[in-house]
Amino acid sequence: MAIRKRNRIEVRGVVQGVGFRPFVYQLAQRFHLSGFVCNTPDGVLIEAEGADCRLAEFSTCLTHHSPPLAEIQDVVTCEVNSLHDTEFVIRASLERPFASVLVSPDVATCDDCRRDFTDPSDRRFGYPFTNCTNCGPRYSLIEDVPYDRARTTMREFRMCADCQAEYDHPGNRRFHAQPNACPVCGPELLLVDAAGVNLPAVAAPEGPTNPNLEVIREVRRRLLQGKVVAIKGLGGFHFACDAENDGAVTRMRALKRRSDKPFALMSADVSSVARCCVVREADQKALLSPRRPIVILPRRPGTRISTAVAPGNNTLGVMLPYTPLHALLFGDNPEDPPVFTALVMTSGNLSEEPIVTSNEEALQRLGSVADAFLLHNRRIHMREDDSVVRVFHGKERTLRRSRGYVPAVIDLGAPLVEILACGSELKNTFCLTRGRYAIVSQHIGNLENYETLEFFEETLANLKRLFRVEPKVMAYDLHPRYLSTQYAFEQAGLRRVGVQHHHAHIASCMAENGLNEKVIGVAFDGTGYGTDGQIWGGEFLVADFEHFERRAHLRYFPLAGGDAAIRQPWRSALSCLLEVFGGDLPDGLPLWNLVPAREIDLVRKMLEKGINSVATSSCGRLFDAVASILGLRHEITFEGQAAVELEMAAVAGTEGVYPFQMEFADPWQVDVRPMIESIVRELQEGEAVGAIAARFHNTLAVMIAEVCRELRRHEPLNKVCLSGGAFQNMFLLERTLTALADYSFEVYLHEKVPPNDGGLSLGQAVIANAAIRKES
Ligand SMILES: [Zn+2]
Ligand SMILES: [Zn+2]
Repeated sequence: MAIRKRNRIEVRGVVQGVGFRPFVYQLAQRFHLSGFVCNTPDGVLIEAEGADCRLAEFSTCLTHHSPPLAEIQDVVTCEVNSLHDTEFVIRASLERPFASVLVSPDVATCDDCRRDFTDPSDRRFGYPFTNCTNCGPRYSLIEDVPYDRARTTMREFRMCADCQAEYDHPGNRRFHAQPNACPVCGPELLLVDAAGVNLPAVAAPEGPTNPNLEVIREVRRRLLQGKVVAIKGLGGFHFACDAENDGAVTRMRALKRRSDKPFALMSADVSSVARCCVVREADQKALLSPRRPIVILPRRPGTRISTAVAPGNNTLGVMLPYTPLHALLFGDNPEDPPVFTALVMTSGNLSEEPIVTSNEEALQRLGSVADAFLLHNRRIHMREDDSVVRVFHGKERTLRRSRGYVPAVIDLGAPLVEILACGSELKNTFCLTRGRYAIVSQHIGNLENYETLEFFEETLANLKRLFRVEPKVMAYDLHPRYLSTQYAFEQAGLRRVGVQHHHAHIASCMAENGLNEKVIGVAFDGTGYGTDGQIWGGEFLVADFEHFERRAHLRYFPLAGGDAAIRQPWRSALSCLLEVFGGDLPDGLPLWNLVPAREIDLVRKMLEKGINSVATSSCGRLFDAVASILGLRHEITFEGQAAVELEMAAVAGTEGVYPFQMEFADPWQVDVRPMIESIVRELQEGEAVGAIAARFHNTLAVMIAEVCRELRRHEPLNKVCLSGGAFQNMFLLERTLTALADYSFEVYLHEKVPPNDGGLSLGQAVIANAAIRKES
């Protein structure tokens, strides 16, 4: 006879709200075990009793065949006394203070649910809020843990008998699916005009009525007419319009006051995406992942997508539907044939404000842009934008980390002090640490206004509650004027650790790659406050988590007029030209005709006299200077625009590198004046702008490799971390990797967090941890 045993099994990780308990239940039935499973604030607790060999099989299956969305971090098993119970049950959640469970990010609609809402015979046909334990909203509606309906915004809806039966049946796909709902009992759609007046949908002449589907058909009709509709989604509102309707897109861009920043698109499926973009296999995988990010793809020549979607850009950001509502908008059911190749789906906000989440706020703030509002009555607890990724060298790399990714933790491998890292000013995120985990917030945005700061604070309060963490240490950027820095100084009774911007970039890259040793760090970006009070941004560091040495940087040039210097790339161009040519400025540059002479004279005087000027080693400003010298862009409407256009102009396959010089001062300086001189000469000789732009990129790549090789001569370091917004430039990144590979360096890039300032908070956290550990 088999030996009877009882095991107590604690499972930690993302195991709540992902169908884990029904999975355990079914497994227990299969192996004839008795006992129970329940959610705890730590994860899931199982007690299983039965034949010894069956228990062993149960444990193996538990870790190897867990549900697709579960992410097991840790399993602790111990034997306990037999209770001789006869059945296996799912128990109510246990509450316990000061513990943490990992909350699941929102998950795109699964195939099973899609079958339900596209099948005219299913009770959920056309129902835009269909979900199950394998899919649906999580982070955006969870108010507290443990994850139960009562702690989500779904508590306002009482389940009907059918839904309750699904919810209660351990064998059902919707067993304990907290947001479970149907057309009888769940949230519903409402279409209104800008004044909030109900817009009636026209019912189908025959067949049963389906109010949600009729509303969706009315929205489709309006979108087809070229209207802009504000649509409430998972983490906030989108503005939607037909991406092939040039008039609609242009009008929306003008009303949204959105400058030339690219709009994101949504297409029904991969084959629709392939009609506007080149989709490789790895891109397809990213598009179809349950996280459903916006994927940056090369635009297909001749596509009918309006050029106003992404002016001056040869890529498009596209995502697939991630809620039933989105899928139904594309007519994803036998009764509504597809009509759109793609819809513009851009964040529902005005210029740089956070994405809008409530119906009232939408009507108040978005009325000047949208012709109609598609609302629903499921409250959004946590606001979040769509995430943006790009596939590079076969791997999905995050450029904006939000819906679908947050609050998934980053495992740092060893326990940290509890820290709040406040992040940067642009593309802000913050980072909390707990145990071995870094919890990086969703993309907050540019911390330049009160609304965004509020978003920062509400998200911080939420994540502190969900993860039961109350840090006593704060990490902040050295820039005294950043709102994130000021926030850190307004909090009483905390330890504060100031972290240099580019050190944080490199530490962030190290942390996500599991490196904890001295490396060469190349941090190229637009702006970061230096320890000498100047604006850094073309930096070569030798760094670990505790220290950094600035070993080399791009030679300083003066920047006149503060923020205006960032908005007007021609100011950087003028400064670089003065550095190279002195008073004898070269003739025939496009700049002289396109910028008023009076303004040029004024800034020239400022530069010559050093009025209202700072010194900068910024790579971003160097890109600005070259873009302006080449006549591509003299004024920008969004951050990084000139650099993007310079990248777009560069013609692949162009050979050649411009000269530059190394000055071995302390720190070393990389003098790019010979390069600027060559660029001007080639331009005057009539060389094509595309070739010059390419050679500029080639030069930076070779320069990075040369400086790294020079550093390796002085210290045996072979690992190079690349970070900073400049490495979002694929033309530069490709060439830099090739040049570093020629010298046999081991190169590390970002994957989980963005190379731009969105990844900064992670680096701040690990540096602050090292500083505190060192003291104690
Ligand atoms: Zn599902
Ligand atoms: Zn129901």
